[in-house]
Amino acid sequence: MTAKLIDGKALAGRIRTHIAQRVKERLNRGERQPGLAVVQVGNDPASAIYVSNKRKACAEVGILSLAHDLPADTSEQSLLALIDQLNEDPTVDGILVQLPLPRQIDPETVIERIRPDKDVDGFHPYNIGRLAVRMPTFRSCTPYGVMKLLAETGEKLLGKHAVVIGASNHVGRPMGLELLLAGCTMTVCHRFTQDLAKHVADADILVVAVGKPGLVKGDWIKPGAMVIDVGMNRLPDGSLCGDVDAAGAARRAAWLTPVPGGVGPMTVAMLLQNTLYAAEELH
Ligand code: NAD
Repeated sequence: MTAKLIDGKALAGRIRTHIAQRVKERLNRGERQPGLAVVQVGNDPASAIYVSNKRKACAEVGILSLAHDLPADTSEQSLLALIDQLNEDPTVDGILVQLPLPRQIDPETVIERIRPDKDVDGFHPYNIGRLAVRMPTFRSCTPYGVMKLLAETGEKLLGKHAVVIGASNHVGRPMGLELLLAGCTMTVCHRFTQDLAKHVADADILVVAVGKPGLVKGDWIKPGAMVIDVGMNRLPDGSLCGDVDAAGAARRAAWLTPVPGGVGPMTVAMLLQNTLYAAEELH
């Protein structure tokens, strides 16, 4: 079998075109531009690239991107004060604080300070909790993007066995909740899981979000599986790769996401979609 690729770049492009159209319609009705505050603390080079991509994506669809670039020695108190101000600002529909944050700032304290109706990343415990009880409002961008990629295949998800590898608060855990919401039987694996290969072999749907190149071997994969590789790893030669042995997986899976060009562009598209949703439905 040769896996069909799920083209995240193309799907994200279509979603962005649709968002741009909806923003244009808002402006034609005399409504204000949706606004996204993007906060970056320090100058971590990888974060700077992510932030610049998000700001560019906002500009392309007509979302106002409000930049807040703070020095690396910013105190937690000053960042919380900025968030309080953005929470009250009626031109701001969404607040994104780029992670990781410098050591002196606790990310969970910061995330909890963002008003849940402006939490367009979908990281606030309120929004994760709503997803857990089948009442999603803001859905975490990466898992939400993965669900759109799975839908793109046209395959039924109901009753399938979905295995998620990685259990972080921002990717693996909400990913498991999304798959449960879609009616899958769900297994979440993490660093303490024993016999990872056995779990992978049993997966109709496999989502890998760890950050270790080559963690999942191609010959572990169940023939005909749908494989979503969230991992984003920079190799010494500068190229990007995921967590799955892509060549091996392509020989066994029915569907596979490429890295780059799979999950990454969908994460940004879902951020734009959440910001539009905030402007249209919540504010
Ligand atoms: P994280 O470090 O917060 O979490 C990693 C998870 O992997 C943990 O739950 C850990 O228990 C688990 N893990 C570690 N070693 C393991 C092993 N040997 N077997 C099974 N599980 C193991 O990382 P994260 O923020 O969740 O990100 C994961 C990956 O996804 C990274 O490569 C990151 O760059 C990528 N990512 C991509 C996007 C995107 O848009 N494409 C978005 C977010 C994260």
